[in-house]
Amino acid sequence: MFLSIRATCREGSTVDTDVIVVGAGPTGLMLAGELRLGGARVVVVEKLAQPTGQSRGLGFTARAMEVFDQRGLLPRFGTLEKSPMGHFGGIQFDYTVLQDAHFGARGVPQSQTEAVLEEWAGELGADIRRGWELTKLSEDGNGVEIVAATPDGEQRLRGAYLVGCDGGQSVVRRAAGIGFPGLPATRRMYLADVTGCAIRPRFLGERLEHGMVMAAPLAPGVDRIIVCEDGTPAGDRPQTVEFEEVAAAWERITGESLAGGGADWVSSFTDATRQASAYRKGRVLLAGDAAHVHLPAGGQGLSTGVQDAVNLGWKLAAVARGAMPDTLLDTYHDERHPVGARLLMNTRAQGMIFLGGPEADPVRAVFGELMELEDVRRRLAGIVSHLDVTYDLGPGTHPLLGRRLPPRPLELPDGTRTGTADLLHPARGVLLDLVGDPAPRETAAPWSDTVTVVTARPENPDAFAGATALLVRPDGHVAWAAGGTERDDVTAGVDRLVEALHHWFGSPEVA
Ligand SMILES: Cc1cc2nc3c(=O)[nH]c(=O)nc-3n(C[C@H](O)[C@H](O)[C@H](O)COP(=O)(O)OP(=O)(O)OC[C@H]3O[C@@H](n4cnc5c(N)ncnc54)[C@H](O)[C@@H]3O)c2cc1C
Repeated sequence: MFLSIRATCREGSTVDTDVIVVGAGPTGLMLAGELRLGGARVVVVEKLAQPTGQSRGLGFTARAMEVFDQRGLLPRFGTLEKSPMGHFGGIQFDYTVLQDAHFGARGVPQSQTEAVLEEWAGELGADIRRGWELTKLSEDGNGVEIVAATPDGEQRLRGAYLVGCDGGQSVVRRAAGIGFPGLPATRRMYLADVTGCAIRPRFLGERLEHGMVMAAPLAPGVDRIIVCEDGTPAGDRPQTVEFEEVAAAWERITGESLAGGGADWVSSFTDATRQASAYRKGRVLLAGDAAHVHLPAGGQGLSTGVQDAVNLGWKLAAVARGAMPDTLLDTYHDERHPVGARLLMNTRAQGMIFLGGPEADPVRAVFGELMELEDVRRRLAGIVSHLDVTYDLGPGTHPLLGRRLPPRPLELPDGTRTGTADLLHPARGVLLDLVGDPAPRETAAPWSDTVTVVTARPENPDAFAGATALLVRPDGHVAWAAGGTERDDVTAGVDRLVEALHHWFGSPEVA
């Protein structure tokens, strides 16, 4: 039984917590940690009494790895390898054509990612309530109230804001009346973590006469297989899948028998492609699969949800603390909705190349030729690694403006070595002075409650595209840059810094 300690929110109404997060998948757990780092109280309600333990998303993209690094989380995953080779729709290419790009961390079961995030969010003070299933949701001008079915009966909980991180079938999205337009599923595909069979790996997938199969070793004696048999209808709703069904489809396509084997986990998925029409409606927001569903091509879903959470967390915490107006939350939709749309675009394109029958052969051939061009490979590496995510963060022409702060080694004035990711561990803004110029440091000094001022020398002077100083948001995106192409415009640069500080961190006296 949970005791609710009621507190009065800024608008004067009574709430139990600042933010209710619905769903303890990777998105909800990441968001819970981010909200705690930002100083907001958070309750996570999760309908499952225990984690599923399912392997599901087997890793994360290069950018998601950087995001975990920004919060000091990477050591919790153990040894992670950055795979240089990846693919687009099954056409292989080397990601290292783009600086910092790689195919991401592979072979990390989603259950492990969730365990890491749940432990971290819990340590930061997130109140995670398992066995709580949201059944009703209502919003008034001052807050959001939910009704949850729990082992102790029906419980009510009131928060100033609520974020639906409750997956593709999101109850929150429906209850809030947010549309989910897109393309319905046309086909169902199978997935199994097979034990006790010797399966030839097909990392890039293999197209055969009756469909496409993929296979990769997951753990000693366990192989992940994906089976896409041509002509398998999507069906109305997710159904329970038996191993025998998957094994039969595998045999029809490959001619290989999985007899004598079994599976740790069997599931199915479709090519449904949909995106929430709004990521915010009043006090209700959506993130992760609740906001976008797509074919799991290139393993991008979990990573996009984590990045949604990192974009939203610090903003929502600042609004909930009363430090910022709630219009700041609109920038979450403005920045992340286009990223979601691009995700749907690239996964659909991959699906057409990957799963199309002979009618797609010419597209595969043209794509294969285009992939010989370095510019094409660089562009695709940026898209699927998520390193190309760029937000419109105001005027300015520096190439880093709106982009992520790249991971680079730095030396502090006392000779200590650090890295850009380390500066972002506390999820605060950072004013990074790279040349010892006092002007930006003095400008940012009044925001010391929310912005850390750091002077550091890059080990490689070219590391930041000629920038002499940068203002970095807690999510790692550059909100202002001096130097480089803007070297001559010093006054405009400082004026823009003041504007950016006000825009993202509010007035210094209330920040
Ligand atoms: C076959 C397959 C392979 C994939 N591979 C990859 C990969 O390699 N890399 C990658 O990045 N992504 C991958 N994905 C996608 C990834 O699994 C999802 O994008 C990810 O799980 C989304 O996380 P989420 O937290 O947004 O939603 P979910 O993981 O769906 O979590 C939602 C949570 O909300 C809870 N919930 C739902 N309704 C309620 C309610 N009413 N009340 C309370 N709780 C509720 C659920 O129990 C669940 O715990 C793959 C997906 C599939 C199907």
